[in-house]
Parts: sequence; structure tokens; C-alpha cells
Amino acid sequence: MTTRRFLCLSLGALALCGCRGTATPVPVVAGDTIAHARAEIGDAPPPLRRQLAEGEVTATLRRISRRLEPPAWELCRDLGVGACDWYVAASRSRQLNASAGLDGRVAINRGILEYARSDDEVAFVMAHELAHHAANHVESARDDTSAGAAVGGLLAAVAVAAAAASGARTGAAENRRMIENAAGTGARIGRLAFSQAQEREADRLGLLVLHRAGYDPALARHFVVTMARASRRGEGQRLFETHPSGPERLAAFDATLAELRARGGTLPLRAG
Ligand SMILES: [Zn+2]
Repeated sequence: MTTRRFLCLSLGALALCGCRGTATPVPVVAGDTIAHARAEIGDAPPPLRRQLAEGEVTATLRRISRRLEPPAWELCRDLGVGACDWYVAASRSRQLNASAGLDGRVAINRGILEYARSDDEVAFVMAHELAHHAANHVESARDDTSAGAAVGGLLAAVAVAAAAASGARTGAAENRRMIENAAGTGARIGRLAFSQAQEREADRLGLLVLHRAGYDPALARHFVVTMARASRRGEGQRLFETHPSGPERLAAFDATLAELRARGGTLPLRAG
């Protein structure tokens, strides 16, 4: 295992920490902003689940995946540490959850789309999972021997993104055929345990990808509140076992969005 230095620095009111297991500095938010976020979540109305028409899940994920691909690849190449070869699949599970797994898999549960009010919200979840791959969290989790804890779930594979770190995209069409042929055949989701620092990093980098894809972070923000509300009711428990608390995620989201705007749409990928 590589040894990484712990390095914290200040950027205005925002502290950034280069933490073990992360490729980039991640935000560390102050307690008063977390308390403010907790109050907002407490005041928010319960999330509403809506009915989706047949085919709406796959169409939505395909549309969002294609839009996120270019900035996600760009980020992956810039970081130079992760696997830039992935595909996105829809899980039929109605749990409010998503995952990044082995072999480049990103699985988005139907439940995510049922609770989302806009593509921007779903795009944040997908960008978060793509960031897990770009920042090499999946491989590092595999090294920690927590890989392979498969949970059930039929997958209807819907969209594919594939590229080599060099920028070559020769595998994309081949992968797309492979996955579409495999739709509904019962592939299993491998669920990996990422560290909380890695979850913070995936939120931060996912927000960058979301912004670069032209989605509205201010609209996506609502889903952070929705996940926090659902977690309180138990529906998002599995998601939040490994993630920072809902209020901390919301406070970090706001800090990262403020930084993103202050820097004209970019974020530093290196500490210092
Ligand atoms: Zn995550």
C-alpha cells in the first residue's frame, strides 16, 4: 500500500485535505456549516417518489451518460490514476442507491430516478460514481480485499462509456454491443466499500464533471437533500453506511460549488 501524506491547507473559508486514498484534495467543512445544512434538511419536505413509464429509466440514463462522457474522460485523463473505461447500467432495484464496481461498472438504481426531479439530479449521482472510477477508488478498494461482495440485482445495461487513458476510444463500440447484448441477463452488482475521504472526493469531482457537462449544480443540489431525507427514513441506509452524513455532504457540496464558481468553473486537482 502506498503511503500518502496528510496535507491540509486553507482556501479562504474552505479547508482542503489531501487524505489517504484520495487522488485530489477534498473539502473539510466547518461544524457551523454542517449545522446549517442539518437544519435545512430537517425543514425540507419528505421526498416524493414518482412512477416511471416503461423505458424511461434506460432512456434517461443513456441520455445522461452520453453527456457526462466527455468531461468524465477529460477528468480521468487529467488525474492519470484511474481506469477510464466504464459502462453505465440500470438496476431494477427501487432502493435509493447507486454503485461503482469492478470491470468499469456503474450501476444506477431505478429508485434514484423515481426520486429525482430533473436530469441534473440523476447526473450528479452518475458523475459521483464515474469519479470513483476516475480517481482509482475501485482498484484501491479491490486492493483492500473488500471487493467481490456481490449483492443481487438484475441489470438492464443501457449505456456504455469506454475509453483508454491515452484518449483512445476504440473499445467503446465493442463494449456497447457487449453490454446491450447482456441486458437483462442478470449480471450482478459488485459493491465495494470506499473510505469516507473517497466519498468526499467523488462528490467533489462529480460536481466538477456535472458542471463541465452543462448541468445545473444548483438543481442537482436538491438530490443531496433528498438522499439525506431518505436516509433519515431508512430508505438510503445502505448508501449512507459508507458515506459522510447527509448534512456534511450538503455542506461540502455548497463549499465545492462556491469554489467552483469562484474559480470560473475549475477546481484544483493537486494540493498546494
Ligand atoms: Zn460513492
